[in-house]
Amino acid sequence: MSGESNKVEDIRLCPIHGYYRGEKCNCGYTGEIILKSFKVEKLGRLVSGILRHFPDKFGIEMDEDGWVNFNDLVRAVKRKYKWANQWLLKAMIYSDAKGRYELKGDKIRAKYGHSVKVKLSDYPICNKEVLYYGTGEEEAQRLIEIGIKPVNQTFVHLSTTKEKSEEVARLRTDEPIILEVDAKSAIRDGIRIIMANDYIALAEEIPPKYILKMVKLGQKN
Ligand SMILES: [Zn+2]
Repeated sequence: MSGESNKVEDIRLCPIHGYYRGEKCNCGYTGEIILKSFKVEKLGRLVSGILRHFPDKFGIEMDEDGWVNFNDLVRAVKRKYKWANQWLLKAMIYSDAKGRYELKGDKIRAKYGHSVKVKLSDYPICNKEVLYYGTGEEEAQRLIEIGIKPVNQTFVHLSTTKEKSEEVARLRTDEPIILEVDAKSAIRDGIRIIMANDYIALAEEIPPKYILKMVKLGQKN
C-alpha cells in the first residue's frame, strides 16, 4: 500500500498558519502561491524516490533508520530541478497531509513506503489490537494461505482503521476485501509491528495464523 493517487494541489502560504495545500487555508485566507501543483508533483516524486527507493543513484548516504542529511538532499534535488531550494522543499514537507516525511534537525527521512533496506529501529511498537489490510478478492485468498508479505517494498503496510484500508484498496479494485490482522497476538509472539504514523503500521511479514477474518465490501457508487 502506498495509496497516493490524490490530486496534487498548489502550495500556498498563510501568514498565520504557514504552508498549506489547496486554494484556501482552513481559516479562510487565500494565501500567495509558493509552488504550483505541477512542481509540487515533480518535487514530491523525486524526494520520495530518493528517500524510499534510490538514495544511491544520487550519491546520498542513508542510515539504517532511513535518515539522510537534509542539505545533501537539497543539493541532489537542485541538480535535477534548478528552481528548487531548501525553502520549497520545506514547504512541501510541512504541507504534506499524509505525513510522508520527517524532518528533524539537519536530517530527513521518509516515514514509510521504503524499498531500500531500512530497519526503522526507533519507531514505536504498534499499540493497536487489530490492524487492517485491504486488497482484491483473489489476492486475499492467497494471502490467507501464505500470509501477508511485502511486494517490492521492505515492509507490509497495514492500516489502523478499516476506512483507511478501504481507501487504499479502492485504488486498485472495485470490490475490496479487508483482512483483519490480530496485531496483539502477533506482537506477543515476537513479530515486530511498528507505527509509521497514526494510521499506518509496518511489519516485515504477517504469517497466516494472525489473519482473523475477511470482510467483503461491495462496489461503491
Ligand atoms: Zn490560515
